[in-house]
Amino acid sequence: MHFYRGEWRLKRGRIIGHDACGVRADTGERVVMVPINYCGSCYFCLRGLPTFCTRSKFMGLTRDGFFAESVALRPKNLIPVPANVSDEEAAIVEPVALALHVLDSLKPNVGDWATIIGQGPIGLLMTQVAKLKGCRVIAIDLEDYRLELAEKYGAAFCINARREDAVKRVREITQRGSDVVVEAAGTVRTVEQTPFMVRKAGRVALVGESKGYLNLEDADEALFFTSYISPVEYPMAVEFIAKKIVDVKGLITHRFRLADFEKALQTADNAAEKPVKIVITA
Ligand SMILES: [Zn+2]
Repeated sequence: MHFYRGEWRLKRGRIIGHDACGVRADTGERVVMVPINYCGSCYFCLRGLPTFCTRSKFMGLTRDGFFAESVALRPKNLIPVPANVSDEEAAIVEPVALALHVLDSLKPNVGDWATIIGQGPIGLLMTQVAKLKGCRVIAIDLEDYRLELAEKYGAAFCINARREDAVKRVREITQRGSDVVVEAAGTVRTVEQTPFMVRKAGRVALVGESKGYLNLEDADEALFFTSYISPVEYPMAVEFIAKKIVDVKGLITHRFRLADFEKALQTADNAAEKPVKIVITA
């Protein structure tokens, strides 16, 4: 969507796509494809941080991505899909893996307040995984239909930031501020709100992609970090979907054929269509 809107630049002719289920050409096996082609031997890979691999190629960005007819990947990038996981569920593994990675990094304790800003597909999975971690979740979004899903996934409080002052509400609910905060809306304004939602010495993960200058004046001391997908959590993400520990099916609001690719992107960009996750099939 960032490429489609012209917010990010892409090499001319590059095929995008980094969340997909496919079929192995050699064995016919259904697989989830991990989009980071990491080397396995650099400083970061050897420390279990393949996301930061200094020689990595990212499918759909620095290599042609998964909307191509076929791609070449190493076997270590292929995760087998169990029979009870549908193709469309398997195509939504990446945000599950991201949510597992981010919540593991935030290390909340049981009973902690977790505030999740943005309840798109990524935010809704953060809400689900924060619940698994034993957090009390505060979900924030501008759209009621997304907050209704957040409530279904166990959010204790839902705040529509169009109608309410989200910072004020979070402080009222938590008293001390939220123990952890995930920014998954990707706007400068919501990033700037995070220091005032988190408690002193709390932790904030910046997951959304925002562009612009930040004003963090008067922010108290807290730990802020950006977070990105990691190959490490993919097998667990597939297992969690198979065992129904997390739900991705309920996030799918629209389905398109590959021939209607542009219509799918237009729908994803049109709030009136109430999109959450859109699945495209070949
Ligand atoms: Zn590496």
